[in-house]
Amino acid sequence: MARRPSKHLRSPRPLSASLGRSEVKSDGRWIIKNIPAERAEKRYLCPGCNRDIPVGVAHLVAWPDEPHIGSSTGLDDRRHWHNACWARRR
Ligand SMILES: [Zn+2]
Repeated sequence: MARRPSKHLRSPRPLSASLGRSEVKSDGRWIIKNIPAERAEKRYLCPGCNRDIPVGVAHLVAWPDEPHIGSSTGLDDRRHWHNACWARRR
């Protein structure tokens, strides 16, 4: 079991930043990527309203810029949101 030094606390993450834009909400910074309608090929549950995002509906995917422990990039924590639900979020 390799133990990684925690030297990443203040370093920028060019990888995640290059994947999309970022927004700061009340619980931290999130990386956001828009999913256009033609790329929405699966149904997702929106955590904002607990309703489905149907196939073929443009929406966005967001994940925390600060990865949780055990997650290297935060991508494991990504969630799909209705655009309107994300905009309402604080
Ligand atoms: Zn929603």
